[in-house]
Amino acid sequence: MLHAARTKIVATVGPACESVAQLSNLIQLGVDVFRMNMAHGDRSRHQAMFDAISSARDQTAIDVGILVDLAGPKIRLGDLFGDNLNLATGDHVAFVRGNVANSSHELTCTYEPLVDELEVHQQILLSDGLIRLQVESKSSDRVECRVIDGGVLRGRQGVNVPGANFSAPALDAVDLDNARWAVSLGVEYLSLSFVRRPEEILQLKDLIHAAGGHSQVVAKIEKREALDCLDEIVKATDGVMVARGDLGVEIEVQQTPIQQKRIVAACRKFGKPVIVATQMLESMHTNRRPTRAEVSDVANAILDGTDACMLSGETAIGNYPTDAVLMMNRIMIETEQAYLDREDSRYPAIEPTTNITRAMVQGAGRIAKQLSAKAVVIVADSISAARYKSQARDFIPTIALSGHRHVVRGLALYWGIIPYYAAPEQIDGLPKIKAFIAERAKTHWQLQDGDRVLLVIDSPDNIGEHDWMTVLTVGRN
Ligand code: PEP
Repeated sequence: MLHAARTKIVATVGPACESVAQLSNLIQLGVDVFRMNMAHGDRSRHQAMFDAISSARDQTAIDVGILVDLAGPKIRLGDLFGDNLNLATGDHVAFVRGNVANSSHELTCTYEPLVDELEVHQQILLSDGLIRLQVESKSSDRVECRVIDGGVLRGRQGVNVPGANFSAPALDAVDLDNARWAVSLGVEYLSLSFVRRPEEILQLKDLIHAAGGHSQVVAKIEKREALDCLDEIVKATDGVMVARGDLGVEIEVQQTPIQQKRIVAACRKFGKPVIVATQMLESMHTNRRPTRAEVSDVANAILDGTDACMLSGETAIGNYPTDAVLMMNRIMIETEQAYLDREDSRYPAIEPTTNITRAMVQGAGRIAKQLSAKAVVIVADSISAARYKSQARDFIPTIALSGHRHVVRGLALYWGIIPYYAAPEQIDGLPKIKAFIAERAKTHWQLQDGDRVLLVIDSPDNIGEHDWMTVLTVGRN
């Protein structure tokens, strides 16, 4: 457990991995968070997915997190007239009002005002940008388009209109309903697609708060508008996803690597966890081994300091979901070794702070290194102490011990944190905490007699602030 990758793996659930046995296997191979994509399926399917993940959590006794990904104002095609539509360059198609296509060259979409809001000469990208249309003319009920780059179109695929400022609300009725459902089930993370402004994050946070939930909000950065107010969004949110699939269509694809680095750096600056997502091991949909470029992509995200890497279709619909997770884990362990070798140069500068918890947990990492201690154990009722420790990126394995399941599962996304549940009565007061650590150290945490562990807790005089630290020695305390 102490030797696992520090970088976390988010895996998208879908038909390729949705049985309890398959999910349990993926957890054992290193998945930390499962993503459920609300853009596909209905409530009964989502509920079945949630139930299967819960059973897999019980079966493995590993508290993976669940991320419910809200579709947000993503525009999608409606159903096509037939199955797939083969569009050749120079062909003509039309977007029509309503949700019924009356011929093979009519398209509908999920955003009703599209026909009103599209403008002549605007470009429309379909199929993740592979197919490009240009608006040629408009009438009250139709928008006529010419195919600039052809390809095979499937129903329900995304529709991107780069630069357009559509009036869609951040959360429509379906998103609100999905969000309330997810909060009622206690999911750890709710991500919002196509975020444009920090207020949209606050709206979702208000909903979670009003429903009495603990879910953390993850802002998906995939629009130019979001890049224009990145710092404000990062400050407002609990976490971020670099959603490269749509980002690479909404902005020029060649700008995505630099924007990815900029987003990761902003998250590091403000201490928010960040997930790099989409096409990380894309070719593993159909191949057992990734391309060299994909391996480099994952490694570079780790070297940039991402908290997590995400698998999308690779685990949801690919032929080799287990190979993809195994490969992701291997790249992480190998790359982190190089990161570790540069460790001393990466400690954040010691900055003055009035935050006792932050100073104590980050200081514990430094002391642990000086003493060659094997781990830091933080006992906490909320995620904040372990979150500060994660920010230090200090490679000292950090066990976040909590008697609250939502805290344990809510830390699944955080770099270098090993969340661990203990029944509240097992860690009630220092003597019990010490006894618990002594009991688990060798049997569950691969520690040996004589190994040192730094323990950080909030003292009874100062609940809520981690103001107390001690050094324990396995076999002696
Ligand atoms: C993305 O666009 O990169 C993304 C993660 O979102 P989705 O999978 O919903 O398209």
